[in-house]
Amino acid sequence: MANNEESRGLKSLFDWFANRRKSGSTSLERQEREIADGLWHKCSKCGVLAYTKDLKANQMVCVECGHHNRVDSDERIRQLIDNNTWKPLDEHLRPTDPLEFRDRKLYSDRLRETQDKIGLIDAVRTGLGQINGLPIALGVMDFRFMGGSMGSVVGERLTRMIEQATQRRYPVVIVCTSGGARMQEGMLSLMQMAKISAALQRHKDARLLYIPVLTNPTTGGVTASFAMLGDIILAEPKATIGFAGRRVIEQTLREKLPENFQTAEDLLQHGFVDDIVPRTQLKNTLAQLIALHQPVLTTPHMVLWETMSLTSTAAE
Ligand SMILES: [Zn+2]
Repeated sequence: MANNEESRGLKSLFDWFANRRKSGSTSLERQEREIADGLWHKCSKCGVLAYTKDLKANQMVCVECGHHNRVDSDERIRQLIDNNTWKPLDEHLRPTDPLEFRDRKLYSDRLRETQDKIGLIDAVRTGLGQINGLPIALGVMDFRFMGGSMGSVVGERLTRMIEQATQRRYPVVIVCTSGGARMQEGMLSLMQMAKISAALQRHKDARLLYIPVLTNPTTGGVTASFAMLGDIILAEPKATIGFAGRRVIEQTLREKLPENFQTAEDLLQHGFVDDIVPRTQLKNTLAQLIALHQPVLTTPHMVLWETMSLTSTAAE
């Protein structure tokens, strides 16, 4: 009996050491666990490990190789908008399933699952806020929500935001990232391209500024509409920007495409993009561009000019 207990005790002690050795010796395992816990982040480009905290402080840009890791809409709003100035718009708009679409699963189930998983109602967030003290209307797409695909809610939220901006005479900035139109809403998704474009045209007619920021990846119907309609089009370094996918084009043309095809750098060279701005400089660049395009009527010079022309009209 005593012997039995003794051996059991030894066994458990042995197990304890064995377990300890196991957990201690496999630092790779632990490393992987810590990456999974979100404490560390492994750069998908150069493989260097960085503390997530440090990486976030550098706006998710790899300190080693400058790779721009994907950021979600929360993080993006935090990066661009001044503290405590963000006022979200149209959060009540929810997607529906008018076609009762089914692929591998029901669209309605897919929507619910995604909403529960990432805590967003759809693939774009819109709102009003300030950027270095200047008011703007900002739309931020979120790739986590069905690949940032554009359905009715994305279209409606962006359109309403642009209309608000036109009314308030605010500049519009949209941070794009999208796989294109959302096939589960069929024609209704495609209609959003025209709807958003029309709102942007009215914004332009009111002589107001619109700047899209193209991030990795911006493709399909988004590229074919509002991503390319900016007064000034900015892109993040190395972002993939295109309409159809590389493979589709290669198969259609039966030609091998160049390495830098559909990159921000290639588009800049061919005049489709006006500038490539590293994420760490994005906020200041946007603020500068917006400041340059502020209505000048309120500056003393213009007031003086107006007074002078009024006087000369009166004199006539
Ligand atoms: Zn890296």
